[in-house]
Amino acid sequence: MTPILPQSAASHARDLSSVSRPRRFAAWQRQHLQWLAAALILPLGMTLTAYGVVEFGPQTQANVSVVSETLATPVLSTQAETISPRSHLEVIRSGDTIGRVLARMGVVDSQLQQFIKSDETARKLFELSPGRILHASSNAVGDVSQLSYVTNNGEEVQIVREGNYLSASSGPVSTQTQTVMKSGRINSSFFAATDAADIPDAITQQLIDLFASRVDFHHTLQKGDQFSVIYETEVHQGSMIKPGRIIAAQFINKGNVHEAMWFADGKGGGDYYALDGSSLKQGFISTPVKFSRISSGFAMRFHPVLFTWKQHRGVDYAAPTGTEVQATADGVITRLATDAGYGNFIEIKHDGKYSTLYAHLSAFAKGLKEGQTVSQGQVIGAVGQTGRVTGPHLHYEFKINGEQVDPLTVALPQGKKLSVPELQAFAPLARSMKRQLSLAGQVELAQLE
Ligand SMILES: [Zn+2]
Repeated sequence: MTPILPQSAASHARDLSSVSRPRRFAAWQRQHLQWLAAALILPLGMTLTAYGVVEFGPQTQANVSVVSETLATPVLSTQAETISPRSHLEVIRSGDTIGRVLARMGVVDSQLQQFIKSDETARKLFELSPGRILHASSNAVGDVSQLSYVTNNGEEVQIVREGNYLSASSGPVSTQTQTVMKSGRINSSFFAATDAADIPDAITQQLIDLFASRVDFHHTLQKGDQFSVIYETEVHQGSMIKPGRIIAAQFINKGNVHEAMWFADGKGGGDYYALDGSSLKQGFISTPVKFSRISSGFAMRFHPVLFTWKQHRGVDYAAPTGTEVQATADGVITRLATDAGYGNFIEIKHDGKYSTLYAHLSAFAKGLKEGQTVSQGQVIGAVGQTGRVTGPHLHYEFKINGEQVDPLTVALPQGKKLSVPELQAFAPLARSMKRQLSLAGQVELAQLE
């Protein structure tokens, strides 16, 4: 049976439902603080009948200590003196239920189990994730005095027993930021290597986005490629709550060293830069064809070949066949192909967000192939009239997260340049990061050999 909570205990449970507790038994302290606060706002000289007779003297300080002593009967502290509480720590396994975990801890507490079923906050313990940890303290007879669990969302659910009463609370957990350094070497695949190095998926994704304009993670990785990454992570009681941001990273692809470092702008933001201070963010030049005019913009138009109204999802630049077409930003060629509509076309991925497409080409630049990196302004082909067209022009598409947008109206990302004073602050940091990254790589190599 679930005990019916007396008014005071029930209100504890409610009051505590949305607070965060920085320390394990902070719920106790908070309860007491609430009572202290309640005592402080009572008019002086009043008697607190609910807690025995406490006469308030003329001095507030004295009142506080009297009330505090009267109320300070937390079960845990008295237990600590009389019976030693036992502490349990259990890692959640796949398919675990709260009952099963408690059984593994050797806890037999039917009142607690009933409470978890009936209390709205405590019911969150029904969704346990493998790998997470359940902490519990129990007294000599096996009753749980305190239980806590941090969910995947970084919310801590805590159950506390006070006498015969159980109350549950939940709130954002307090975390510490830790800096982690990991390295790996590719044997089969990049993801296998990041898994082996125990790098969280979110960090792996950041790593890909960071170097996407310099390394083609789909086509050009090879066995022996190495990476090192320094990143921040939020930690609670030794377990990772959530991964944060990459501080610095190094990727060695086919012997080419790519490095990046986060540099805060001092205004709450920041950006990634190569260790020489150049920006990793893509800047775009506005036109892929020099000396041309726009013959059709990004709009609804009557298709001259298909004779239907269609959304024109790009911009057409009219120019004579053979006019040079240039990449509008650094990137990796993800597609170099021919199709019925586009004719000969090239698609370039610039980073995790931006890509561009160049269609109806009469020719591709010599030797160009998928997976190859190109730099801004590099000639990638020539204007033509291959595919579904009536005359020579370049059809240019600008995509954000795979969706075509109008490159003439969208705010094009600009590669940021560090100012001279910024560079002065950047340089020593970059030197230190370079040292740490190469150290991380050496440690990894030593472990492998
Ligand atoms: Zn077009």
